Amino acid sequence: MADTSPGAARGPLATDAAVEEILGRLRLGGGRITTARRLVVESLLESPHHQTAEEISAQVQAKAPDVHISTVYRNLDELEKLGVISHVHLGHGPAVYHLSDEDHGHLVCSECGWVTEAPRQAFSALARALKGRFGFELDTQHFAVQGVCSHCGSSAGRPPA
Ligand SMILES: [Zn+2]
Ligand SMILES: [Zn+2]
Ligand SMILES: [Zn+2]
Repeated sequence: MADTSPGAARGPLATDAAVEEILGRLRLGGGRITTARRLVVESLLESPHHQTAEEISAQVQAKAPDVHISTVYRNLDELEKLGVISHVHLGHGPAVYHLSDEDHGHLVCSECGWVTEAPRQAFSALARALKGRFGFELDTQHFAVQGVCSHCGSSAGRPPA
């Protein structure tokens, strides 16, 4: 699957086809398509940022007020078991969700909370080193990597050169 515009936000126009593509995979995997499931997937595709379960619930209920919050939470669990979405811990707060086809790790600034996505390849040298030295399989997907962003690093308490 060639995406010619990496990093381009998925606009509302791209969403319909993308939702169908994801729901198609879900169907192939034996999953049922329900209104709540479709809305959860839509919510994740439409938002430029990863969302907490609470934020996803709010989005779903804005479109379908009769979908109960417990239904949304149950569907998040089920969609995750089916491999369609996954959750990520960015820091101390609640986990956020993204679509599983988004293959990236997350960098979080511990000063300002800025979050960015880094492609899996950005970690490949570290992954190889850990594998070679410890036989350790690095997982950069589940937890974010903490650090200090270039803005905070250059402005906060660093003496001018
Ligand atoms: Zn992500
Ligand atoms: Zn920062
Ligand atoms: Zn977790």
